[in-house]
Formats: sequence, structure tokens, C-alpha cells
Amino acid sequence: MLKPAELTLEEMGDLAAIIPAADPEVKLTYRPIPDFDEQPRRSIIPVCEPTLGGNELKYVTQAIETNWISSAGSFIRDFEARFAQLCGAQYGIACANGTVAMHLAMATLGLEPGDEVIIPTFTMIATANAVTYCGATPVLVDMEPDYWQMDIDQVAAKITPRTKAIVPVHIYGHPTDMDPLLELGQRHGLMVIEDSAEAHGAEYKGRRCGSLGDAAGFSFYGNKIITTGEGGMVTTNNKEIARLAWNLRDHAFSTERHFWHKFVGFNYRMTNLQAAVGLAQVEQLERFVEQRRRNAAEYSCRLHGVPGITTPPEASWAKNVYWMYGITVDEAAYGMSRDQLRKVLADHGIETRTFFIPMHCQPVYWRQFKGQRYPVAERLCRDGFYLPSASSLSLAEIEYVAGVIRAACPNLRG
Ligand SMILES: *Cc1c(COP(=O)(O)O)cnc(C)c1O
Repeated sequence: MLKPAELTLEEMGDLAAIIPAADPEVKLTYRPIPDFDEQPRRSIIPVCEPTLGGNELKYVTQAIETNWISSAGSFIRDFEARFAQLCGAQYGIACANGTVAMHLAMATLGLEPGDEVIIPTFTMIATANAVTYCGATPVLVDMEPDYWQMDIDQVAAKITPRTKAIVPVHIYGHPTDMDPLLELGQRHGLMVIEDSAEAHGAEYKGRRCGSLGDAAGFSFYGNKIITTGEGGMVTTNNKEIARLAWNLRDHAFSTERHFWHKFVGFNYRMTNLQAAVGLAQVEQLERFVEQRRRNAAEYSCRLHGVPGITTPPEASWAKNVYWMYGITVDEAAYGMSRDQLRKVLADHGIETRTFFIPMHCQPVYWRQFKGQRYPVAERLCRDGFYLPSASSLSLAEIEYVAGVIRAACPNLRG
């Protein structure tokens, strides 16, 4: 039987200090909703929620009324075409979720045991797992401190004869510095697969994430910038990768005859119902991105000058889409720790989420990366968390959240 990887804080040594405390309980606060019954609704400000304000219901209804609810149907093709176009990519291959989008993209590379894939340690676990599913070995690098993205110099240092691919993750909606990475990939004959799960609409030097490398994986999970409930997509400008991904997504049925298989394929299909929601969401993507950028600007100007708080960065070459509005707390300068501040916010009905726990600190990968240290990722894990970040956040909510952070700061006078 499967046994969980056990890892105690004692075994982690000084790394134990970066592991966040349990999530504080978010207190229900009254937020009066005009015209809502006599009782105001008990509520919180959630860290994120989907915005379903467009044609979602209309398109889903169409899918049901026309009897096309499974994984064939016109919404899938329309969604793939429309989303790929918005990314500046030629091909879009819709699939069941973001994790399998990354797996599907990597599976087209034909990785073998012993092959190495370089990923940032500071990411969501699916990035590392997708490499593991392929039987390949994830190799970790740290982040650069300015924009919290994969450190390209460290990538260069980690390339070996077994390296086959590099997977930059556009963390929290800010692009990775792709030009030097692509140059490095080209020089060593490596594929570059973007994990764009958090970067719908984000831009690097005016070009969209999802069209920068050889292929990319997107997620449409409920908390992503656009959602299909569960869903994902591979985007690529490489015809061969597209063809393989379409085939592998659907059990690798061969074109010569049905029930004839030349690859171990997968069922990673998306349904027409999800694609109906997806198409309606894509129609609103540009607006969501603008809302998120405006919300980020509103947060940042209100948090400006609070000692010890770092607001999310944006490089001169980047368009950050702020999937999550992440801040870091310098305990000494702010006057309390990240976990203490999260507790204050939770007491005020504000839900927050801590930053990723790096891959080298995960119980399941502990033995594989034992002894490796990545100080920037570790500091981000210790000090970082994100504030409510939904596209639909109101200015009043942003003012309230920023107001609580300012008021709670023991070192802010006047
Ligand atoms: C959300 C996310 C994924 C996984 O997407 P799912 O749709 O939840 O499977 C992968 N990578 C990153 C960086 C993510 O944020």
C-alpha cells in the first residue's frame, strides 16, 4: 500500500522556521448587501472567487439544448482557437486541468528516466509532479529576488548532459525573464515549456506568456484568472507538439484505425460544458486583466510607506496580471510576523493565503533534494502571503484590507 512521506519539523532543522503556521480561522463579519433580504449576509472577503458575469449561462444552456455535453462539440474548438489567439499561439489543446496540461506538454518531449528538467523550487507542486509523471527528474533552482521568478544564472549552472527541458513558471502572474532563458535553451538544445497556469494575459516585452517557449500549460481552475471550474490548455506554435498533444489527450487513438494505439495515451479531455464556460470567460479576459492591474495599483498606493511591507514587483519589460496580489512582511520592520498579521486580517473577515512552500521543503520531495538550500525561495515562503485578489474586488474592499494592514502596524506612526 501507498505510504505517505513523513517529515517532521525536527528533521527539517532550521528550515522548519519557514513553514507557515496553520491558517487562522476567518471570522464572519457583517457586510450589508443592499436589497438582500432583511438580514444582511454573513460574509468574508475571500482570497479569490470566480467572476461569472458574461455569457457563461447562455453558452452552457446552448451546449445542453443541443445535446453536446461531452468532449466533442463546437465550444471546445472555439475555446481552443480563441484562447490560443489571445496568447499569440497558433495551437491550443484544451484538457482536463492545468496539471495535466503540463504533463501533456512534457509528454510530447519523450522524456526518459534519468532525463532532467529544470524548474524553480518556488512553485505549486504540480510543476514538479508533471516532471515526475514523465519518469524524469526535476532539478531545482532558486528565484531572483527582484521579481520572484526563476534565476536564469542558476539555470545555466544546473545544465548537464542529461538536461532535456527548462520549465519557467510565471509566478503570481509576473513573467519570467524569457530572452536569456530561451537563448540558453537554444544554445544547449533544450525545450522550454512555460508553466503559465497563473499568467493568462501576462506579457513579456509586449508578447504574451504562452507563446514564448516551445509550449505552455495553462490552468482554468476556479481561482485562476479565467476559469472553467476545472480545466487546462496547452498552447504552442510547434505543429508537431500540437499534433502529439491532441493525440495523447485522447488515448492516442491512431488515425489509421480505431482502437489502434502507438503511444500510451491519456484521457485528459475537456468537456464541451467546461469549454462553454471557458469561451464566455475568454471574452472577458482583457477586462479581468485590467481590473486586476487597477486593483493592484489601488492596493500598492495604499500600502506604500508601511514599514516592512513589500508590494508585488513589476519589471519594466513586464505586464504583471497579478493572479495573486502577494506581499512580504519583514517582521522586524513591520513589528509583527507574517503569521501574526494574517491572524489580524482573519479576525477582520479577510481571508489570505501563504506563499508556496518550496519543492525542496516538501515531505514528498525531501529525500530527493535533501541538503539543497534556496535562500530567496525560503525567504518568500517565510514572509509572503497574498491578499484578496479576485478581479471583482471592489475599491471599498481594497481600502478596508489596506486600512487593516496600516492600522495593525506597530511601527507606523501618524
Ligand atoms: C494552478 C497551478 C497549476 C495546476 O493547475 P490545476 O488546474 O489546479 O491542475 C500548475 N502550476 C501552477 C504554477 C499553478 O499555479
